Amino acid sequence: MPDTSLDLAQPSAAIQAVLTAVAADPVASQGLAAIQDRNPEFAGPLAARLTGAVLTPDGRRLADRILNTYWADDSRRQALVRSMGTDREVIIGSGFHAAVYAATRVLSGYPKPLVLERAERPGGTFALTDWPVFHLNSPNRRGGAGPAGDQASSPNYLPGAPIQAASLSMEDYQANTDMALIIRLTLAQYAEVITGAQIVAVSTDGIGVQAETAADGPLSAGRIIDARGLGDPIDRDLANDTTILTSPQFLRRMTGSWPLRGARSVAVLGGGDSGKCAVESLLGIGPHPRLAAAALDTVDRIDWYSTDLPTTCQQWRRDIRCRYQPIGRHLRPDRYGRRRLTVLSRQARPIGLPGSALIDGRTYDLAVLCTGNKETTLGGLAPELFDPFVTHGVPVAQQHYELPVYRVGPHARLPFTAEERDDGLADMPSNAVSMWRTGPLTAALAASLPPVTAGPVT
Ligand SMILES: Cc1cc2nc3c(=O)[nH]c(=O)nc-3n(C[C@H](O)[C@H](O)[C@H](O)COP(=O)(O)OP(=O)(O)OC[C@H]3O[C@@H](n4cnc5c(N)ncnc54)[C@H](O)[C@@H]3O)c2cc1C
Repeated sequence: MPDTSLDLAQPSAAIQAVLTAVAADPVASQGLAAIQDRNPEFAGPLAARLTGAVLTPDGRRLADRILNTYWADDSRRQALVRSMGTDREVIIGSGFHAAVYAATRVLSGYPKPLVLERAERPGGTFALTDWPVFHLNSPNRRGGAGPAGDQASSPNYLPGAPIQAASLSMEDYQANTDMALIIRLTLAQYAEVITGAQIVAVSTDGIGVQAETAADGPLSAGRIIDARGLGDPIDRDLANDTTILTSPQFLRRMTGSWPLRGARSVAVLGGGDSGKCAVESLLGIGPHPRLAAAALDTVDRIDWYSTDLPTTCQQWRRDIRCRYQPIGRHLRPDRYGRRRLTVLSRQARPIGLPGSALIDGRTYDLAVLCTGNKETTLGGLAPELFDPFVTHGVPVAQQHYELPVYRVGPHARLPFTAEERDDGLADMPSNAVSMWRTGPLTAALAASLPPVTAGPVT
């Protein structure tokens, strides 16, 4: 039976802590005061107060800090670990899909799932940094769920979230931290989160499932939702943390002081979304770093190693989607024949030298590896142990054939349906992992699964 003990209109303890802290701060509370005028325009008082609390950058920063403090509390963490049992649903990972699943589940009348996150900062890929370091590749629009090409819907919509990303800013393309905040607020309202909990394997003793953690040993659950995202950088073994960085290492560096100091010539390897975001940062057309000045830190030369990118400005304008158009003009030489950005249509592997990175006999101050991600296979969760889980004729997740475990999000690798092919959505392969496609599927899973009941795994 669905659980009716939660009052869904009330803030959770974590959200209440945010609202109280913002209300008590004379600067951060300006958004709360301003929103009062528009209260009737919101779906309810909670959405109105929360929007007001995070409307200004000061409110957002304070909310972010309060959530970190809430989730870092050790006595709360210990109590949650003790509460684990075969009547609970557990989600591995705390990104976009964890938030979608938790919100839909609770709004469907079921208890809050427990989220196990290996990092200390919940929120997944978009919460990698607490300062904006990349822009989303889908436009910022109001509206409900729908594909990126549908002007009447919001491709950044998080089903069930107490507020949506479009409530945070007017930018054409929002920063990663906007989406991260929505994910974190959703988890704060609809889930319990344990940080520093790396799952290393999943097994069963016949009653429920056990998630093996590195720090807390085996934790019991009645069902596991595996929401581990795209995985970790393929080439992380090539990185040396100084002159050769993975994409996440580079993005974290952009939040520090003078992140481009000494980086006059840079190589970027890989032409996907991560590579394009790295090149935007290096050109100075990504989100502004926390502390940087063009007069001191302009990168003079960017060599971009990729076999699938246009090499000229003209081709770029014709072939590349709107979001990344501004990169194209940097492929055009100036009137003296100089240009900062060059696409080299070949693959490369950097070698770390003291103080530089070497590629094909050329040295660079920095090389950024944007060559993609790979899932780490956990014991008991090999991809071949899963089959599609279909509801109402649509595959929405992958289901383990023996254990009550479901894979959701990009690593469920759900193939395009015939309708998606007809609509042209399959023409762009990266659409397969876009949250506007995978989010509603995860919501459909959360709305479809029966309640978890403690008992033997059959
Ligand atoms: C730089 C970049 C930009 C992107 N931009 C967009 C975009 O604009 N639009 C879009 O739709 N998609 C974008 N994506 C794709 C994006 O990753 C997904 O759409 C979305 O973030 C996936 O959400 P998720 O919840 O599945 O995974 P994630 O957000 O990656 O979260 C997975 C979480 O699982 C945790 N985890 C992993 N292994 C374990 C373990 N063993 N134990 C415990 N925790 C674990 C991780 O620490 C992480 O917090 C981008 C990806 C990257 C890398």
